[in-house]
Amino acid sequence: MKAKDFRSPLEPVWCTGCGDFGVLKGLTQALADLEIPPERLAVISGIGCSSRLPGYTRSYAFNSVHGRALPIATGLKLSRPEITTLVVGGDGDGFSIGLGHLPHAIRRNVDLTYVVLDNGIYGLTKGQSSPTTEVDFKRVRGLAGPDERPLNPVLLVLSSGCGYVARTHAGMLPHLRQTVRDAIRYPGFSFVHVLAGCVTYQTPGYAQEIYQRCDEVPAEYDPSSFQAAMTAACAERFQLGVLYRRDPGDGPLDASEAPGLAGIWQPRPARVSEDAAHEE
Ligand code: SF4
Repeated sequence: MKAKDFRSPLEPVWCTGCGDFGVLKGLTQALADLEIPPERLAVISGIGCSSRLPGYTRSYAFNSVHGRALPIATGLKLSRPEITTLVVGGDGDGFSIGLGHLPHAIRRNVDLTYVVLDNGIYGLTKGQSSPTTEVDFKRVRGLAGPDERPLNPVLLVLSSGCGYVARTHAGMLPHLRQTVRDAIRYPGFSFVHVLAGCVTYQTPGYAQEIYQRCDEVPAEYDPSSFQAAMTAACAERFQLGVLYRRDPGDGPLDASEAPGLAGIWQPRPARVSEDAAHEE
């Protein structure tokens, strides 16, 4: 199959030059590489410019309500495990109204791939600041809350215990294709952070500036190291590639082996039941 076999007849209504075009192309290329039959594929989204993407793919598709893509995808995957299920959406949808669902999707570790197209702005509703809008940009544009610091999506999912975390860029098609393909292959919850550009509401040159701040992780980078991933997540420049990959057979990550996990209990000693205690 070819990438075009995964495109629906609908023409995207995105602005000319929007980073979402690159993601649609790379994603359909990845699907073609994996030869997933469209009748065994579902693409689920919330609301926003990037959340239109399911309509442009040849698959089962659901454009849900704002921030609710993950629970819908989880339900679908649990009831129909044979369906390859992708979740796509933007930074506003995923990290604002939808944020409450993210750690739960991660700890349930259902086999979903969540692709977030992060352009640091609400595009569909005409340029409000999103949870990932940078401070400088808000100051220049006079947006509300200029001193509120942005969320770090990669740090957020890592510290929630996500077993597969990668980052790519909408303008780097071969990298994006490979990253999405590998994430789909991962047999658990996988997260792909895609740096994308909004040519209409970001300042001119924003996409180029972000692109120039990207570095691929070095060849010797060890994606099995949680500490290496945390360091990469906090780096000033954007690190691209598979930042963390936990062997699915290793079970869930816990705070005893990875200090920095937010809100996750360390395993406790098994409780001795009252009956067993009486027998002793
Ligand atoms: S408003 Fe921005 S994000 Fe939305 S389609 Fe246009 S360029 Fe893309």
